[in-house]
Order: sequence, then C-alpha cells, then structure tokens
Amino acid sequence: MAYFVDLTLFITGPTYVRPEILEAGKLPVFGHRDKEAKLRLEPAINNLKQIAGVSDDYHVLLIPGTGSDAMEASVRSLISDDEKALAVSVGAFGDLYCKIAQSNGKKVEMLRFPDGQAIDLNVLEQKLFEYKPQVVMFTHNETSSGVMNDVAAVSRLIRKYNALPLVDGVSIFGGAPSHISAGKVAMYSTSTQKCLGLPAGFGIAFVSKDALEKAKKVENKGYTTDILQHAKSSEKFQTMNTTPTQLANQLYVQTEYIVGNEGIPQRFQRHRIMRNLTHNWISSLPAGFELLPDIKYASPSVTCIKVPENFPREELREKMRSHGYLFDSGYREMTIPSIRIGHMGDISIDMLNIYLDFLSKEIASM
Ligand SMILES: *Cc1c(COP(=O)(O)O)cnc(C)c1O
Repeated sequence: MAYFVDLTLFITGPTYVRPEILEAGKLPVFGHRDKEAKLRLEPAINNLKQIAGVSDDYHVLLIPGTGSDAMEASVRSLISDDEKALAVSVGAFGDLYCKIAQSNGKKVEMLRFPDGQAIDLNVLEQKLFEYKPQVVMFTHNETSSGVMNDVAAVSRLIRKYNALPLVDGVSIFGGAPSHISAGKVAMYSTSTQKCLGLPAGFGIAFVSKDALEKAKKVENKGYTTDILQHAKSSEKFQTMNTTPTQLANQLYVQTEYIVGNEGIPQRFQRHRIMRNLTHNWISSLPAGFELLPDIKYASPSVTCIKVPENFPREELREKMRSHGYLFDSGYREMTIPSIRIGHMGDISIDMLNIYLDFLSKEIASM
C-alpha cells in the first residue's frame, strides 16, 4: 500500500493520531456484550466525566458513529414535534445543527450571527423573550471561523427562559473546559476525532437528568437516536449497538493518558499556549493576513486567519503536502477568504512551531 501518503494532519478534524494510539488499536478485539467490554468502557466513561468536569448528575453516552450522530440523537430525543426550537448559529456548524433539526421535521427557527462573531447575549435574550422556544441549540466552538462561545453564560440564559440548552462541542471537547455543569447544559455532544486526538467512530454525549426525564415524553425518538436506550447501555458500560472495538481500546488508552499522564489542566493549558503562539505568528505575516474573530472569542483549538483576496490557498495546500502536512485552506463555503490552523488534540507545541515555520517560508515565497 505504498501509494498511501502518511501526512501529518493540521486540519480541523480528523486530527493527528500519535503512535501510541495507533499501537493501542492493536489491543485485543472483544465482544460488546461480554464482561471484557466493561474493562475498557468503565474507565473510559469515568475519565470522560473528569475531562467534562461533570458529576454523577450527567450520563455519558457512547454512540457508534460521529459527533453529528450525537447531535441528531439530541434533536430526535429532546424536541417534541409540537414544540419550538431555536438554533443559534455563528457559522457553518451552527447552521448544521439547524439543518439536522429541520431534516428531522422539527419546528426550528435560526438566530444567525455573522461569520467571525460570537453569540451576543442581548440579542439572544430578546429572541428568547419573543419566540419562547422549548429547546435551544448552539455551537461551543465554531470550527469554520475559530470562534468560541461562552457556554456557561449562553446556557444559563437559555435556562432562565425555561428552555433546554443543547450544545455542539465537537471541535473543542478535550482541549478546553466544557462548562457543562456551570451552564446546566441538557445535552453536550462531541466526537473522538478532534481535540481528543483519536480516530473517528464514536459520538460522545453528556446528558443531564432532566433531559433524560424529558426524553421519556418525546415520541418517535428513532432507534439509534434514542438517548434513553444509549443511557441504559452505558450504565452497563456497553454500547447500544456494536462497539467499534479498536476505537474503544484507543479511547481507554487515550483518556487514561489525558487524566493520569498529561493532566487535564495541562492539556487545556497546552491548547491555550498553541492558540497564543499562532496569534503571535499571524503578526509576523505580510499585510492582509489577520485573525478573523475578535481575540476575546478566539478558539483555543482552531485559528481562522483572513487572507488577501485571491491568495492562492489551494496552491499553498499542495506546497505543504510536499513537506508532509495536510494544510487547511479554509472553510469552503465561507464568503470571507481564510485559512485555518488546527492546533488541537495531540499536536505538540514543537510540532506547531515547525509547521508554522514551513508555512512562513511558503507564504513568503508566494
Ligand atoms: C466536525 C464538526 C462537526 C461534525 O462532527 P462529525 O464528528 O464529523 O459528525 C460538528 N460540529 C462541529 C463544531 C465540528 O467541528
């Protein structure tokens, strides 16, 4: 299979997988109803709770699939057909949450902020007051623009208007605090292939007790999208449908490492350092390159950089490929031309520095 090129992924997901995790993929496969399953999934679930900073008030769901499967389960299980939902979007992934709800026949309106901006609490409050939704979805970390919303503040405001907050935390969980408890988030969805530094294959969700109570009253939750069934399985440290066993082994090894070796605060700190380092690097670039979001809302896992009009982004991607990297030439559908640096998961500070040096040289030569 010599024609497969081994590129170091600096895109915003899937992310770089370190050799120890690739090695962990070789641990024994197991039967997902056998007692062997619990040996991996019990510690993995407990570690995930620590990374999320939640107590036993929250249930952890492991949904075979990806982050969008967890998001789909959240709308199927927590929005009744006669209810009103509000999707608060600051970019392409906020739009996606709205689309997931719409394509499941839910009544949903969108409150959209321009690309590069964060959720404005005053505008949201006015909308909550007028529209009176029962459920509100929003994005923790908008991957298209590198904007991080204040989960605790947004979620508390949603709770103040007696609605359930559903959060898409796909591109930040494992790289920054999730504020699930502080915001009383009803369901927080994420996946394995971004800040957790694993291959794709599980949607992971943290679900509150009141959300599980509500799900009992929602009809037509679907089969693989029923959070009550997923919660029942995860209580037994199993998954509802067949476990991707290789990934379960890797999840076990990686979460033990995060909690016991790297340390959770240290991991979050490393992400902040990589963000700051990337911001400094932007100021060394020629005129026309600038940080897209307001620095106050700049994400610790992905930095989005405005580039000059007609800058040859695809050409730069091919040049970086020749150095062994997969470069992110910006979110395709965004109208502002931009490039992104995915500094998340297991990318080290040294790896990032070397990568940014290559980028500087290539940009200077263009
Ligand atoms: C990547 C991403 C998704 C989609 O996640 P999958 O795991 O690919 O389904 C959703 N939301 C955000 C913010 C993302 O970055």
